[in-house]
Parts: sequence; structure tokens; C-alpha cells
Amino acid sequence: MSRIFNFSAGPSMMPESVLERAAKEMLNYADSGMSVMEMSHRSKVYDKIIKDAEKKLREVMAIPDNYKVLFLQGGATMQFSMIPLNLMTKNKKADYIVSGSFSGKAYKEAKKYGDVHLAGTSREDNFSHIATQEELTLREDADYLHICENNTIFGTTYNYLPETNGVPIVSDMSSCILSKPVDVAKYGMIYAGAQKNMGPAGLTVVIVREDLVGEPQEMTPVMLRYDEMVNNDSMYNTPPTYAIYMLGLMLDWVESMGGLKGMEAHNEKKAGILYDYLDQSSFYKTNVVKENRSLMNVTFTTGDEEMDAKFIKASVEKKFSNLKGHRSVGGMRASIYNAMPIEGVEALVAFMKEFEAQNA
Ligand SMILES: *Cc1c(COP(=O)(O)O)cnc(C)c1O
Repeated sequence: MSRIFNFSAGPSMMPESVLERAAKEMLNYADSGMSVMEMSHRSKVYDKIIKDAEKKLREVMAIPDNYKVLFLQGGATMQFSMIPLNLMTKNKKADYIVSGSFSGKAYKEAKKYGDVHLAGTSREDNFSHIATQEELTLREDADYLHICENNTIFGTTYNYLPETNGVPIVSDMSSCILSKPVDVAKYGMIYAGAQKNMGPAGLTVVIVREDLVGEPQEMTPVMLRYDEMVNNDSMYNTPPTYAIYMLGLMLDWVESMGGLKGMEAHNEKKAGILYDYLDQSSFYKTNVVKENRSLMNVTFTTGDEEMDAKFIKASVEKKFSNLKGHRSVGGMRASIYNAMPIEGVEALVAFMKEFEAQNA
């Protein structure tokens, strides 16, 4: 079978050229006589791979020098614990905006470790918008404000960055990192699981402002301490070596697409095709308010559960994969991360038109 358009929310599609390069280098990387997977993480050849990956990430995202880049394991979810353990240490207070499922989990986990305040939520409208600045109740003495920048399950994204009067913003960018330019200096910390826009699962990238890496809470396990990871260049133990190598290949590809500006244009074009179609259709609808529509995860429904199920079944027969919405919200979701080509979105819209014509 040939490759298909995979709309999975993660792990998700990767560019074919990246997979081909990985395949080509699989058995013998750069004349080392071995696969990257077989290499000691302390070897010279691997040292160059990890250093280059960091260097490329710094270039692509224009990360200022006073930020540390860490390559960790445990997924974005592990950060839900690491963040309060390491950063909720000055006033032992943190503010959280709950804009969906993952930020809800982060909030719940943080509550174990200190005084955590729900600074805003859109739970009442089933997360179809992002709480606006006016809806927030922020504390001036919070050690940080946690947000989830793109809500993978609900298909919403921020169209502003909260004004916090100096309280550092910690942002979960798992499903939007590398999708458009960001001003890293506006954040205290950015983190993301790799499996949406940065490569295979198993790697979590943390970008944290130097001065925030202080003393963690006392009982913090050594593997969960940012300071230990900083002091050991992410090699306190064996890092996820192959996933870091793949991140390097993904970054080369992002550069070849014109960097983050190029990615943004590509993503706006793709999402625009889908939203324009949804807006003119009376058969499909999206619950997300216009100003918070995600470029990465497009959620929609026919408004009828049985029709949605029929749509999903028909889509699978046409070789579109993973269009079923998350089990907690139902409906449909097309995840169109960086690697989804325009043709994939065009083919999806053509199928949606055909299905609408037959079923409206
Ligand atoms: C996927 C995702 C997570 C969970 O990531 P894991 O790596 O599976 O722990 C957290 N936050 C967001 C926004 C996500 O999209």
C-alpha cells in the first residue's frame, strides 16, 4: 500500500524526505559503520548530532542566549509535574489557565505541589474559545502563569499572549511548536512533546530562561530536576538519542521550507482551505470561535452523531486516516501539522464536498 494522508493528532505525519533520509542513513550513519540507534551517547559522532540539533533549534526559533535548551523524556505530560517542582519555588504560587484537556491535567497535577490558582477557563462554553485578558484573574506574586498555547483536542489557539506584569509565562506548545515564528523572549519557558511537529515520540523539548532554573522543591527526584539536566547537557543519563537525531532532520526540513515564516505561510494556506470550506457549508460546522481557530487541529461536526460516524467510516474507505475527533469531544478533527502537504487538505475538502452532496 502507498502512503496515505494521515490526519493523526500525534504521533503524526512526517515529511517523506525526512523519512527517506533517515532510511538512507539507517545502517551506516556518516561512515561511522553503525546506526544512530546503536551509538554510544558519549561518542564523538553522537556528540555532534545532539549539539547540531540544539544549534539548529536555536537558529530556527531564534532562541536568545539566556535560554537553556533541554532534551528530555517523559512526554509533555512529565512537564506537568516538573514545572511546579522546579518553578513553583519562590512564592510557591502558580496561576493556570485551563483552556482544554491538557491544561486541565497540568492544573490538576500542579495542585499537589503548592498554591495553584485557576486564573481563567472557558469550560462553560466547552472550550470553544480561549479566555480573554479581561476574563483572567492573575496574581502578581505567582511564580509563573501556565498556558496551553494550542489546544489539540478542541482545536483552539491563543490570538494574544496574556499581559502578566513580569510573571513568567510557561507555555505548552506541544501541538504548535515550529508552526510559526514565536518571540521566545516573551516566555519564561516553552515545552513540547516532539511527536506532533518535531519528530518521533520519546523526546520532549524544554526551552527555559536561565534565571528560572533555580533550586527545585526539596524532594524532587533527580531525573525531574532542570538544574541537573542543565548541568549535564541533557545527559545525566541516556537521552532519547534517535529522536534527537530525527529532530535534527526535521529542523533541516523546516529550514528548507523557509524557516518558521515559511512554515506559517504554508500552514495558513492549508488551514484557510479547510476553514473557508467549513464557513460556506451548511452541512458541516465548527464550534470554535473565529479568532481562536487553530492552524494545526481543525475540529468540525455535522451536528448529528450518526452522520459523523458515517463520515468517519467513509473517510477510512477513501484512505484518509485518523479523522475521528478525540473520544472526549466526538465529531471530527483534522490535524494538519507542518508535514501535512497542501494536497492532503485539498483531497480532504474534495471528499467532504462529495460526502455533503450525497448526504445533505
Ligand atoms: C499531545 C499533547 C500533550 C501530551 O503529550 P505527551 O507527550 O503524550 O505527554 C500535552 N499537551 C499538548 C498540548 C499536547 O498536544
